[in-house]
Amino acid sequence: MQMEQKKKKDIKIVYIFVGFTILLVIIALLLIVGSSRVANTLTNMQESTDAYIVEENSISQMREVSDYLTEQCQAFIATGKLEEAEAYFQEVDFDKRREASLKAVEPYGKEQAIYKSLSEALQSSNELADVECHAMRLAAEGYGLDPAGISEDLTQVKLTNEEKQMTAQEKRQRARSMVFDEDYESKKSEIWNKVYDSTEQLMKNTSECELEYYESARNRIILQNVLLGLLLVLALLLLYVVAKLVILPLRRSTDFIRNHESLPVEGASEYAYLARAYNTMLEATQEHHEILSYEATHDEMTDLYNRKFFDMKRMELADEETSLMIVDVDHFKSINDTYGHETGDKVLQKVAKILASNFRSEDFVCRIGGDEFAVLMVQMRPELKYIVEGKIADVNEMLRQNGDGLPAVTLSIGVAFSENCDTESENADIPEVLFRNADQALYKAKESGRDGYAFY
Ligand code: GH3
Ligand code: MG
Repeated sequence: MQMEQKKKKDIKIVYIFVGFTILLVIIALLLIVGSSRVANTLTNMQESTDAYIVEENSISQMREVSDYLTEQCQAFIATGKLEEAEAYFQEVDFDKRREASLKAVEPYGKEQAIYKSLSEALQSSNELADVECHAMRLAAEGYGLDPAGISEDLTQVKLTNEEKQMTAQEKRQRARSMVFDEDYESKKSEIWNKVYDSTEQLMKNTSECELEYYESARNRIILQNVLLGLLLVLALLLLYVVAKLVILPLRRSTDFIRNHESLPVEGASEYAYLARAYNTMLEATQEHHEILSYEATHDEMTDLYNRKFFDMKRMELADEETSLMIVDVDHFKSINDTYGHETGDKVLQKVAKILASNFRSEDFVCRIGGDEFAVLMVQMRPELKYIVEGKIADVNEMLRQNGDGLPAVTLSIGVAFSENCDTESENADIPEVLFRNADQALYKAKESGRDGYAFY
């Protein structure tokens, strides 16, 4: 338990604050880095999709153009129409869309399988173009057209001697068989296969890439969520710790301060330090206050209540059945004159002590003047005056015992009861009349030769 308290004492809120702040900043930085990584992954996904579109277009274009050339070539050979051949060479020599297709995938890496397949497809297509040119040269001659008027490519085709000696019809027939025979078809399907391989490769690459990016994005988003959760937990924990160690003790302290009570030493060490300092100050203030209020209500020399307290108390007791006894030392001046002031003081202290010891704790024994004392007896009625007489006898008895070396003194005593106060005819309130009556009784006792008492 003590260990626990010691531990609690050592918790400094400033350390907790710094610790939590560092943790929160680290997590926030991790979140920022994580977010930018997720954004990068999404960009990569986007780029992969863009690449797929470009590559897919290139592959389609390679196949379409290859088929287009076949169609144009076959159409020219079948019909001998010049425009078919012109369209063919327009594509081969000027448009060059197959080369453009290969160029379009080049940025994604020449070592990539797609590039290799496409470039093989282009090579096969070019090989086929040689066959097509040869066939077209034969067809041109078969149709009686000037090959040089069609394309320079046709003039460069070398015909065999056998072909040169063929008739026009034979040439057209040979040309037709060159672009419709099995050899041609197998070359053609070789191109298709290459294109198909490219498509396969593209699909495979893209789906692998997409999967990799998807998984990376998903894992990063999960991590982001975990970090966010951690951030929330830490923030709540910080609030809890601050509430428990600072806010709650502060809230509770307002009640204690309002009730002038000392504060419980709890919470963070900074707060506990404040609580201890406050408690020390409160203790000192209370002690000081007690001393001041004791001094304000007590007589310094005899430790009895003083005149001020007496006046206040008799007002307070106005409605109660009270008896007031006023005591005056007889011929006290001569004690001072004969034995000195110091001895006079000791005699007064002795009288005070004897009076205090003979009355109940609820009565008030006061010193109201130089050698004058007063006793306010609560719950005292005239029928009980025998009790008062008994106390006077005891006091006198104690005074007579002379073992302390002090000069002997006698007392004159006047006693009055609140019940006997005639406030109407005296035209004053009870405290006033009670005092007047007791004083008159004292005067009577003095007049009667002192060392005696009188009741009003
Ligand atoms: P009486 O019998 O009529 O009371 O005569 P007395 O001499 O006692 O006269 P009184 O009560 O009037 O005088 C009180 C004297 O007490 C006057 C003053 O010098 C003395 N006195 C007052 N205060 C103190 C004190 O604190 N110490 C001492 N030693 N004497 C005091
Ligand atoms: Mg006197």
